[in-house]
This record gives sequence, C-alpha cells and structure tokens, in this order.
Amino acid sequence: MLMSLIPKSHPRAKSLLIREKLVTGFDQGLVAKEGLLAHGRGEAFDYLLGEKTSKTAKLAIRAAAAQILLADLPVISVNGNIAALCPKEIVRLANTSRAKIEVNLFYANEKRKQNIIKILKKSGAKEILGTNRNLSTTLPGLDSARRIVDKNGIFAADVVIVPLEDGDRTMALRRAEKTVITFDLNPLSRTSQTANITIVDNVTRAIDLLTITCKKLSNKNKKTLEKIVHDFNNKKNLSDNIIEIRDNLTRRLHIA
Ligand code: ATP
Ligand code: MG
Repeated sequence: MLMSLIPKSHPRAKSLLIREKLVTGFDQGLVAKEGLLAHGRGEAFDYLLGEKTSKTAKLAIRAAAAQILLADLPVISVNGNIAALCPKEIVRLANTSRAKIEVNLFYANEKRKQNIIKILKKSGAKEILGTNRNLSTTLPGLDSARRIVDKNGIFAADVVIVPLEDGDRTMALRRAEKTVITFDLNPLSRTSQTANITIVDNVTRAIDLLTITCKKLSNKNKKTLEKIVHDFNNKKNLSDNIIEIRDNLTRRLHIA
C-alpha cells in the first residue's frame, strides 16, 4: 500500500483518504475513469447526508442482513470501485454470509477484470465467479457486454448484492426476479429507487456493519428474519433519507 500524503489533521481527511484509495485503484488498473466520476457523484451526496451512517441506513442494513441470511444463493457483484475501496471487507461479508463473489464490470475490460481478481484473491477470496468464459451467460434486457453474468453466480442467484450499480442493470436484475440489495449514496438514483433494499450510506462505512449484523442475526429463526424483511419498506426508507438531507440543509441555512 502506498503511504498516504494526507495529514490526519486535515479537516476532510476521511473523505480525502477514500478519494486517494480510488486514485490508487485507478493507477493499479482496478478502477475505470468513469468510476472516478461515479465516486464524485457519491461524495456529493455523502456531504449532504453528513458523512455518517444514519439510523435510516442502519434499518436498511438490518433488513439487508436478514434478506441475505434467508437467501438460497446470495451473490455479491464486485466492480472496480468496490475492489479499490474495500476488497477485504467484501471477502469478510462473503465468508460471514456464505455469499458468493462475482466480478461483474459495467465497462468490460479483461485486463481490469484480472487485476480485480488478483486483489480479491490477495484479500483472501477463495472462489471468484465471473472468471470462466464457459460459464458465462446473458441477462435478458441489456445490451451486449453489460449483460454477461456467471451461470453459477448472478444468473442462478435469488439475492444479488450490487454496491454502486447502474440503474439499467438493477432494473434488469429485478426483471429477472432477483431480490436486489444495493449500497448507494444517492437516494434518488434509479438503482436506489429500483432495488428491494437500498442502503443509503458510503459503502466504506456500511459494509462492515452489514457483516456484523449478519453475524448478529445468524442465530435468529426463519420467521424472525422474514418479519424483519417484511417490516422494511424501501420507499419509506428512501423518503426518510431525503428528509435527512433536507433537515441537514435546513440546519445550514442562515436565516436572519
Ligand atoms: P443510476 O444509473 O442508478 O440512476 P447514476 O447514473 O446517477 O445512477 P452511476 O454512475 O450509474 O450513477 O452509479 C454510481 C452510483 O454509486 C451513484 O449513485 C453514486 O451516488 C454511488 N456511489 C459512488 N460512490 C459510492 C460509495 N463510496 N458508496 C456508496 N455509493 C456510492
Ligand atoms: Mg447510471
């Protein structure tokens, strides 16, 4: 790992450190140029959300954990940004929740895919799907490169965890009758609005919390888990996130 040039005392240190991870990931051939821009969009929403994990996000995390534990075949879809930001955390989540890991890129690029596989292996991943061309198949309703998925992974999954996903693909997953869980800082994005469970938080803050919650809920029975999922309302949760942004903005108004 490169030494960070950002002093801990910098008032925006945390945000800058995350940005630095992305830039390092770009230099290492993990992140697409477009991924850097997508991160910028996320950062802006993080600012508006107060750069913290809200109670609202925690509710979504709890529902997501219950949903993953109930799944027959949960699969985590990994792209360049996630590989650069939290590869170890992805492996930890997979191990705790017995979810499979699939590398699935929006901007298909074989070299970048290999780099992502390498970092996941280095982070302890044993099995990585999306790597064997003989097992690739297509998800209907999307144009060519973006619809390739693994027969034993996303294609067969009942629950798909897609951190930082594009709206078209989220919609295609829903049409394929997958239950979709996403991390997305923008409560207004098509992904946020289309997923079954949207965790509106920075994936770097929320992912370990999801793993811990999976561990905590793992001794609960099926009925309890089903109730947690049933009681969760994604539309309401998204509205609460928007209210949170509004309240944060109101607090910043200087009314004479
Ligand atoms: P959509 O296609 O769903 O309408 P979009 O086109 O606005 O969304 P994309 O570039 O397709 O955006 O997807 C990237 C999404 O990931 C953005 O909504 C952005 O807010 C979110 N994002 C970026 N970085 C992070 C992060 N670190 N944690 C959580 N979400 C993030
Ligand atoms: Mg998009």
